[in-house]
Amino acid sequence: MGKKSAKLFAKAQNYIPGGVNSPVRAFKAVGGNPLFIKKAKGAYLIDEDDNQYIDMINSWGPMILGHAFEPVEKQVRKTLKNSFSFGAPTALEVDMAKIITEMVPSVEKVRMVNSGTEATMSAIRVARGYTGRDKIIKFEGCYHGHGDSFLISAGSGAITMGEPDSPGVTKGTAKDTLLAPYNDLEAVRKLVEANKGEIAAIILEPVVGNMGCVLPEDGYLQGLRDICDQEKIVLIFDEVMTGFRLAPGGAQERFGITPDMTTLGKIIGGGMPVGAYGGKAEIMEFVSPAGPVYQAGTLSGNPMAMAAGYAMLKHIQENPNLYKKLEETGEEIVSGIKDSLTELGLVYTMNHVGSMYSLFFTNQKVKDLETAKSTNTELFGKYFQAMLKRGIYLAPSQFESLFLSTALKKKHIKAILKANRESLAEIQ
Ligand SMILES: *Cc1c(COP(=O)(O)O)cnc(C)c1O
Repeated sequence: MGKKSAKLFAKAQNYIPGGVNSPVRAFKAVGGNPLFIKKAKGAYLIDEDDNQYIDMINSWGPMILGHAFEPVEKQVRKTLKNSFSFGAPTALEVDMAKIITEMVPSVEKVRMVNSGTEATMSAIRVARGYTGRDKIIKFEGCYHGHGDSFLISAGSGAITMGEPDSPGVTKGTAKDTLLAPYNDLEAVRKLVEANKGEIAAIILEPVVGNMGCVLPEDGYLQGLRDICDQEKIVLIFDEVMTGFRLAPGGAQERFGITPDMTTLGKIIGGGMPVGAYGGKAEIMEFVSPAGPVYQAGTLSGNPMAMAAGYAMLKHIQENPNLYKKLEETGEEIVSGIKDSLTELGLVYTMNHVGSMYSLFFTNQKVKDLETAKSTNTELFGKYFQAMLKRGIYLAPSQFESLFLSTALKKKHIKAILKANRESLAEIQ
């Protein structure tokens, strides 16, 4: 790590808990200290010491078109001239809501918020208000932001009651969050049976990005859809990560399953702090001031954020071909890594869909949190450092997906695969 990053990190720790504003950034899982980033353009990040890296995180998803994408930048500059916030309705937020409902047809009405965390917190409140029920089912290893109801880990008593994952989350809150392993429909059926008529919502990442990339098995999403239909449970797809990434309409379009509600974030803000939740009009009509469920935000629908997000979505909507390119880039990188593994005689698991993938340092099939945890995190740490040394910036944790952007050209892919081959060889 460069001198300036080291100095800044030391200074940051005096004023910011752990020196960072979001925990994974601290590199704790991979060793070493974080890089402080000065700027970014296209496929590249540039740190305070002027080192250049090919970015494989893209701000954890939002920069699907690469950094400082010009149409987005232009729209923000244009909007900037009219000042930053009014706390009153604007034309831009109507355009934004309209384009979201066009691109994600299951979303008939939508409310803008300021982060993915806010989106999921609000969505379950609305689902509870709509059904008049208290409990929700979430899945081990799925992340839905840091709202109290979602910071619940597995325990042996998980069938009936969750245990808080973090101090500060009360037992009272935790007891309403029921847990099931991902990709296990039978576990969900048992929970529903044991809590008949009490479950408001099932919330999940339709493709998980937050225990590394984990795909839904055949029939899993449909199975959840069926259970929700039978029991009048609100099915919530948390597409904060997968929305506008796996298809213009997200994972729900790609897998052909329609949820009742959807939460969005990341790409929807084009790099600005934005989230959104929406769904069937009948459910969304419960949101204040149309209905009784309160949810508000001083800066929600903020003009700067809407400008960036709208420009992003508009570009995506008008250029659906970019997904074909993303698919090809993903395919090329993943098959290149697989070739290196074969060549080096290594048996590691690769999970991949579209422009998301994870290389797990395990030979087990990774389909849920338990199998994800079979990975060798120490080896991942070495791999991360070896890649960084070669100018490739990966997510600093095994339990994250990587996110590709349209800014990756042939020369970047070549550099990524070369670094990958050398790194894998080096760490054995
Ligand atoms: C990132 C993420 C969130 C949280 O969004 P923030 O904007 O960080 O609050 C929620 N759900 C999923 C699936 C995410 O990937």
